[in-house]
Amino acid sequence: MNNIIDGTKVAFKIREQIKNLIEKEKITPQLAVIQVGDNKASDVYIKNKKKACEEVGIKFELIKFNTTISEELVINEIKRLNNDISVNGILVQLPLPVGFDEGKIINEINPVKDVDGLTYQNVGNLVLENDCLVPCTPLGVMELLNAYNVSLASKNVCLVGRSNLVGKPLIQLLLKANATVSVCHSKSLDIKNYTKQADVLIVAAGHPNLITKDMVKEGVVIIDVGINKEGNVLCGDVDFEEVSKKSSLITPVPGGVGPMTVSCLLKNVVKAYKIQN
Ligand code: NAP
Repeated sequence: MNNIIDGTKVAFKIREQIKNLIEKEKITPQLAVIQVGDNKASDVYIKNKKKACEEVGIKFELIKFNTTISEELVINEIKRLNNDISVNGILVQLPLPVGFDEGKIINEINPVKDVDGLTYQNVGNLVLENDCLVPCTPLGVMELLNAYNVSLASKNVCLVGRSNLVGKPLIQLLLKANATVSVCHSKSLDIKNYTKQADVLIVAAGHPNLITKDMVKEGVVIIDVGINKEGNVLCGDVDFEEVSKKSSLITPVPGGVGPMTVSCLLKNVVKAYKIQN
């Protein structure tokens, strides 16, 4: 099928561009990741980030604490990294263990080093359309649409999911691109009314097969952000088999948005370096 969006290919191209830029400009950006506890999924995500950083020439440091660490000591570590001029990006791996105040901890990160784009300052700047560090997955979605020349101006874009990490930043990015945006969530009644009208449908709900072929119109562009595990198989939120027959473009899972998230993190680290230098 030639309607499949190849996220792995686009993500690889971005990594090559970053690698070339780092070599050409002889710069040494550095990312520090703080991990608290031993979440197995986080271990995998961090390993992927480390590998991607090292491949393009970004220095990677992991600061790992066990769950007995106090919130205050985590914040002290963030303050130390804020003051370390060799560190350009700081990322607190989420979720933090129960009992840690994620908002409070993340907002200790200096906004110019906040490569996840989650501090209040970056969130506010995104809403106000000021240049800022934008969360990696929403950025990856926009980069994918751009790579496949999907124009958004005046288009009906339906977003399923309104999380702080994915859905809400996407609302802002889509509005900035002059799309007409409708947003569905778990309390929406009959989301088919909205998904059916979409020229572009972006789904980030975390429910396998939430979107079925009767819910989309012919020729729709589908971006499936969801990552779900069914047995040992990864799948998205869209019934790919059936919906892909009606769509003009569609992302697979895996191999769609996932690889773009890591590439956009690398982009943000380089952007943070440039802001600081
Ligand atoms: P989240 O924080 O759990 O948010 C899910 C959102 O979907 C919420 O807004 C929720 O509504 C909405 N929702 C849940 N069930 C729904 C339903 N039946 N109908 C309509 N809306 C529904 O999740 P997230 O962090 O945004 O992640 C969403 C998915 O993307 C997950 O599968 C996650 O693994 C994946 N993800 C992928 C990447 C990547 O790199 N590809 C990155 C991040 C996340 P309420 O607000 O009403 O609860």
